[in-house]
Amino acid sequence: MTATSEAPTAVAEVPTARLFVNGAWREGGGGSYPVVDPSTEQPVGRAPEASADDVADAVAAAREAFEGWSRTSPAQRAAVLDRIADLLLARNDDFVPLLQAETGATIRVASAMQVPVAAERFRRYARGALEPAVSALAPQPVAATPLAAGGLTSAVAARRPVGVVGCITSYNFPIVNLAGKLAPALAAGNTVVAKPAPQDPLGCLKLGEVFEEAGAPPGIFNVVTGSGAATGAALVASPDVDMISFTGSTAVGRRIAADGGLTMKRLLLELGGKGAGIVLEDADLRAAVSAVGSAWSFHSGQICTAPTRVLVHESRHDEVVAALAAYAAALTVGDPLSPDTVVGPVITAQHRDRVEGYIAGALAEGARLVCGGTRKEHADGFPVLPDTGFYVAPTLLADVTPTMTIAREEVFGPVVVVIPFRDEEEAVAIANSTEFGLYDYVFTADTARAYALAARLRTGHVGINTAQRNMEAPFGGFKQSGVGRDGGSYGLQAYSEVQAVIWQS
Ligand code: NAD
Repeated sequence: MTATSEAPTAVAEVPTARLFVNGAWREGGGGSYPVVDPSTEQPVGRAPEASADDVADAVAAAREAFEGWSRTSPAQRAAVLDRIADLLLARNDDFVPLLQAETGATIRVASAMQVPVAAERFRRYARGALEPAVSALAPQPVAATPLAAGGLTSAVAARRPVGVVGCITSYNFPIVNLAGKLAPALAAGNTVVAKPAPQDPLGCLKLGEVFEEAGAPPGIFNVVTGSGAATGAALVASPDVDMISFTGSTAVGRRIAADGGLTMKRLLLELGGKGAGIVLEDADLRAAVSAVGSAWSFHSGQICTAPTRVLVHESRHDEVVAALAAYAAALTVGDPLSPDTVVGPVITAQHRDRVEGYIAGALAEGARLVCGGTRKEHADGFPVLPDTGFYVAPTLLADVTPTMTIAREEVFGPVVVVIPFRDEEEAVAIANSTEFGLYDYVFTADTARAYALAARLRTGHVGINTAQRNMEAPFGGFKQSGVGRDGGSYGLQAYSEVQAVIWQS
């Protein structure tokens, strides 16, 4: 077969997924579009483009389902969530190849970080729904107040589901990002219309099969796919959607906050980050380098919480730059299906070009390339990237100043910058100097000092000598990294409204 006859056949053969609305499958009213594997640049499937009518039907189905679902007992909701967790794990082998291909994640990340983590979120919130007496949803008594005519008013602050929640998510960990919203939203008695990222929505659509198989009530979970400007904006504009839970960039988050304000949406916004990893004089460099290394190795740096700005005490600067360069040089970049690969591609050609634009811009502003670089630079030898696929070499830039664009804007790719500081005052000032405030890190042998330093960092999280997460800890951003918190019991609170119930005694 000739190359020309092969190409159209390959395109024609990919399956077209369908929308999941009210427990049934339907084609997108707006047609479909190809979903591309970032490592092969070939389509892996076609995703439906939802029309305005599809979105309206999904919202109407969620609204209708809310009446029944919000009145189910915690035990009934927990049983559904538990079945979903079981089925997800049982179908892991079904999901992993699809999720791997549409995200371009390495097989290691796709296997460990998608289905098991998503299943764990359903499991966690099944438990949350089952334990209302000890959970964040339990009614809280408030102080009785005396009446002028005698007697008292007593009250409780009860938590009620918000209603229909539109979950709009980013591309980096599609099913995990969605499960992190869906599981607590359903556990708290809400119903959901999900709008996954257009680059990789196929796994999220497939989640509909799991809900079907679990016998979940139709309409409690709906998936509509398409562009942010059409499908996402339609959800935000709908007066029948009570809340938008959004994970994505700060730019889109601002837009959602403005548009959602017109119908007074409840908002949970999980936005961009520009994490500072502060390396103090007495830091254990192994801990620091391994944590910072995740900014390259964990899904090619497409991580909102990564320590992409390494702020180093001047006494350790050269040592840190050398250690990070050695770490980056040892990373295997390439075919995500190879078990040895640590760094795969980024999501699209457009995003690769954007990341490379940041690197080129930094060099033009005076930064020094320690390793990696754009395709143009590494054509000189280090490292060799595959010809096909949207790869960016793990890149380390030194001689960066806090005012450079590369030190202020989120790159969302495998790029780390090093900035020296003289003392703690300067470290804090630099760490706090961006519009973001999502996740910072402190590396020091003195944990009491790190704890005190954390109080001065305007950020939602501070990791002390670690990049490991605690899934029960509140998750969210200060400043323009977001609004609200989820994670653990905070997730249940995020998807509930407080209602005061008052009586006279
Ligand atoms: P993005 O903002 O481009 O898109 C996110 C989602 O918003 C997509 O589903 C998109 O279609 C939709 N969207 C776009 N315009 C919209 C509009 N006008 N109305 C409604 N929806 C719209 O983000 P991305 O490129 O998919 O993901 C990368 C970003 O996500 C980074 O900034 C990263 O930091 C952030 N992120 C944050 C967290 C967190 O928890 N804070 C987690 C993961 C990713």
